[in-house]
Amino acid sequence: MTVDHADRRARLAAVATREGLDAVVVAPSPDLAYLTGYDPMLMERLTLLVVRPGGEALMVVPELERPLALDSAAGQDLDPDRIVGWRDGADPYALVAEALPRTGRVAVGDRTWASHVLELQRVAPGLAFEAASPTIGRLRSVKDEDELAALRRAGRGADETFRAICGTRFLGRREEEVAADLAELLVANGHRRAEFTIVASGPSSASPHHEPGGRTILPHDAVVLDFGGELAGYYSDTTRTVVVGEPPVGLAEVFAIVHEAQEAAVRAVRPGVTAQEIDRIARRIIDDAGYGERFFHRTGHGIGLEVHEPPYIIEGNDTVLEPGMTFSVEPGIYLEGRFGARIEDIVAVTADGVERLNRSTRELQVVS
Ligand code: ZN
Ligand code: ZN
Ligand code: ZN
Repeated sequence: MTVDHADRRARLAAVATREGLDAVVVAPSPDLAYLTGYDPMLMERLTLLVVRPGGEALMVVPELERPLALDSAAGQDLDPDRIVGWRDGADPYALVAEALPRTGRVAVGDRTWASHVLELQRVAPGLAFEAASPTIGRLRSVKDEDELAALRRAGRGADETFRAICGTRFLGRREEEVAADLAELLVANGHRRAEFTIVASGPSSASPHHEPGGRTILPHDAVVLDFGGELAGYYSDTTRTVVVGEPPVGLAEVFAIVHEAQEAAVRAVRPGVTAQEIDRIARRIIDDAGYGERFFHRTGHGIGLEVHEPPYIIEGNDTVLEPGMTFSVEPGIYLEGRFGARIEDIVAVTADGVERLNRSTRELQVVS
């Protein structure tokens, strides 16, 4: 896909102007990739993009990486003389300071190392630095058609992965073996690589971010599978709960509540609703069923160039949903020492409602 990075930077500059910011600076990160198409390895040598309202962007790079930057998408839509190299021994922060105003507000990308920010504060003592995530996060949270297409493909690949894993054996195998299968299946289904494969069986399924380990999967185990990978720079992330043979006592009831909460929250997604309202809808159902204390994480997170990014679906977030926003809806109930259940889909806000990017069955699947 051909991305108009210059347009993204122009929109960032416009938002920055509206927010009274004098500049935005971004180090290598998904933010930099989003704004320039340049995605180098993060290192101690400073690479920094400076975006200022009303001016052309400037990127300061280590001289030895300047050819790399010129070869990237950034080299196509940034003037070569706006990609400024600095040699080892020189002070790159002074270079950046020349591109910044003497006083004012500068927003700094979240992934900019503290060591860099501290040096910037040293060379530009008149500037007030603040987080750029509200500004860039807002921009990145609304996906364009190409981004949506990549997220759809990733979602389909994750769905195929789930279908395939359900046909494989769970009983008697170790969590880490099933996790390895998931990783392979994600790649077989179009992903460039697997990013995470949580396989949480039996009592471990009550731990939402369980690390799959050597535990052997037993009869009547609930198994929570939460997995995703990267495809064309964008991520999938889906969770399904399966059971090995007959469910343990209480699982069917808990699963039904999670299922209802997830369904209701997804159906409530449309433009104009706030992120926290989606969280409240899922939470109310689980609360009313008496399991409020056992649902101890937010309902979801945005997804795109990162697995977790704005908008976060959580109480206190009054971000108004807009067409093009993509995020997970993933309520769960976790009963320590017994089992857990979670269902997670990625959804996209459409002009008048919601599109699910995950469509594999959400019913409790019995595996062998
Ligand atoms: Zn998670
Ligand atoms: Zn997940
Ligand atoms: Zn998730």
